[in-house]
Amino acid sequence: MKLLFVGVQGSGKGTQAKVISAKLEMPHISTGDLLRGATQELKKEIDSYIINGKLVPDELMLRVLNSRLSLEDCAKGFILDGYPRNIAQARKLDEITFIDKVIEIVISDEEALVRAIYRVTCSKCGEGYNTKTNPPKRIGVCDKCNGVLTKRADDNEQAMRKRIEIYHKETEPILKHYKSVKVNGEQKIEKVTRDILRVLGIGG
Ligand code: AMP
Repeated sequence: MKLLFVGVQGSGKGTQAKVISAKLEMPHISTGDLLRGATQELKKEIDSYIINGKLVPDELMLRVLNSRLSLEDCAKGFILDGYPRNIAQARKLDEITFIDKVIEIVISDEEALVRAIYRVTCSKCGEGYNTKTNPPKRIGVCDKCNGVLTKRADDNEQAMRKRIEIYHKETEPILKHYKSVKVNGEQKIEKVTRDILRVLGIGG
């Protein structure tokens, strides 16, 4: 099964993709994570876009994505989180593969802003926390692996407003391109997971 999770930054699509990829035993591919982990020679160029909340150019993004999708673990299915971000990327993806289902995780812009501003992520295992609503037991330390919690450079108010604006202008049109299904992202994490599984016909 090849799935796309779409939603404004902070909607929880990364969190949900992690949970569901573990449950369905298929890889979770976050294009943001791929870019943040890119090789040193590409890193400088990529970081200049990310830090300002702008999209990385389509051609560069596609190169990074293609090399990930060509790995064997993607042959049977995957959850793609963060791609496509615009219609041109959606058309490119259609040339590469067929997507079975597109899930839109819906939250308001205000909620997105608050979630991103308080978001911290474990530098070791990738676990996410919200210092206001879901804080770690010890400040700055991951509950799961004791890794150091870090804040993403683009999770500041200015970059976030830019990312939300780009989402509405460039990413939302892809929802019409595919027949996407909406899930309410402003519920408990477990409830959102159940709703997604139900949409996938897996129950939950
Ligand atoms: P994310 O972790 O999905 O919020 O992505 C972080 C940043 O990576 C975005 O703000 C963009 O700068 C870049 N990025 C991620 N996915 C894409 C994409 N599909 N196209 C262009 N830029 C992307």
